[in-house]
Amino acid sequence: MYTVAQLIGGVWGAGGEGGELVVHDPADGSPVTTVPVATADEVAKAVEAARGAAADWAATAPAERAAALHRAADAVEAAAEELAQATTAELGKPLDDARGGVAAGIGTLRQYAELGPVRGGRTLHGGHSALDFMAPEPRGVVAAITPWNDPVAVSCGLLGAALVTGNVVLYKPSERTPGTGWLLAKALDSALPAGVLSLLTGGPEVGAALAGQEVDVVAHVGSTATGRAIAAAGARTGAKVLLENGGSDPLVVDAGVDPVWAAEQAALGCFANAGQICVAVERIYVHRDLAEDFVDALVERARALTMGPGRDPGTQLGPLVDRRHRDHVHGQVTAAVAEGAQVRTGGTLPDGPGAFYPATVVAECRHEMALVREETFGPVAPVIVVDSFSEGLRCAADSPYGLAATVLTGSMSHAQRAWRELPVGTVKINAVFGGAPGGAAQPRRGSGQGFGYGPELLDEFSTVKTVHIEAPGGGHW
Ligand code: NAD
Repeated sequence: MYTVAQLIGGVWGAGGEGGELVVHDPADGSPVTTVPVATADEVAKAVEAARGAAADWAATAPAERAAALHRAADAVEAAAEELAQATTAELGKPLDDARGGVAAGIGTLRQYAELGPVRGGRTLHGGHSALDFMAPEPRGVVAAITPWNDPVAVSCGLLGAALVTGNVVLYKPSERTPGTGWLLAKALDSALPAGVLSLLTGGPEVGAALAGQEVDVVAHVGSTATGRAIAAAGARTGAKVLLENGGSDPLVVDAGVDPVWAAEQAALGCFANAGQICVAVERIYVHRDLAEDFVDALVERARALTMGPGRDPGTQLGPLVDRRHRDHVHGQVTAAVAEGAQVRTGGTLPDGPGAFYPATVVAECRHEMALVREETFGPVAPVIVVDSFSEGLRCAADSPYGLAATVLTGSMSHAQRAWRELPVGTVKINAVFGGAPGGAAQPRRGSGQGFGYGPELLDEFSTVKTVHIEAPGGGHW
């Protein structure tokens, strides 16, 4: 059992007058974490205290901040197994995947520790006796509001980049993974000056209270609806808003590719982390020529996955995060069936405890169905048959979201068309996941705004001042 405490103004255990939440293990419903809930007043006080610590941290030499972040990464590394266990207990993720998320987070902290101090400004060419330059500066107070689906990796990105660029951070982890957030904050705080990092816990109301404060940046990773509420709050306070939100990523399967390989890619994209990945494959447009073989192979893959508690070795498909979310996923599947779609495997609520949902393949889907257009965030593969690559590409592009897309094709000209024509932040050809280090993308439309990761995130958390210096009286120094 984890007993979470808040960190406000450098003091652990502060506040929590808003009550208490209990997080349950989605595998069996047993209680895992108790969490204090911050009041709006505590949130305001935490922001004020953080503001008080901002000037000193901003004035700390970048190399010193980077060294602190390296020590913070060491502390996270020392707590890595505990963090992975907490992630699995709170969210149900298979333990090896949770370990992978923690390792990714540590890697990101170290990358930012390396990159932070080497990113400088620009020298300008002004008058001979003048000095003209552009200098990056910290933005000040950053609110980082994060989701549950990959809690350590996502949080380390925002926190590492914001801290190394000299901002103080108020961290509000998801109410579904607060124990993981608390362990992470404890590790990071152990290497930072008091007051530089704060931890506020509770539900959406705490996030809303934080986003309504006069902070300098609100960075949110989470659902599109929340992102829009935060953007509205930012419009009122003047805070810069950085949003990495939902998606409905398409997979386009071209004629001529091996249907078994394509099904392996689709299964990975649809069922990893039980489909609870922002860049999970949410809809598949497959060319009629191979549709039947592809669906048969995908059904086979889905049935072969071992479903069980994330803590059990060998589990490939853990539970969904909670029953409320399972109801949402199942509701979308049953609505599609009512509109004529056909469940080829899965699609039923298992008996027994927990929030398990089987890997589900839904054939005969149409592009207009909510299952296809909305984000499902579950282990569901809706398949739409198309008659040409152009039709697949056109449907893939037609979405309220714009996060990422994958195309499987043997044709270089189709690959070229895909990356040029798809209005999304990330295009992947012939691999549902992957990409080179240092990549960064801007999501589009309902999927958010700004760079949420990569080296460019350092720029998002910085502001730039242009300076012009002349000698007095128009002379020389
Ligand atoms: P969510 O938006 O419901 O919650 C995320 C955080 O926002 C939580 O800490 C929550 O308490 C807080 N929050 C909720 N309402 C708020 C409000 N009105 N004002 C301020 N804060 C508020 O999202 P979730 O359910 O935790 O996460 C799943 C979603 O996150 C999915 O849509 C997924 O696609 C998305 N996601 C996106 C990315 C990305 O990089 N684009 C990465 C991971 C997850």
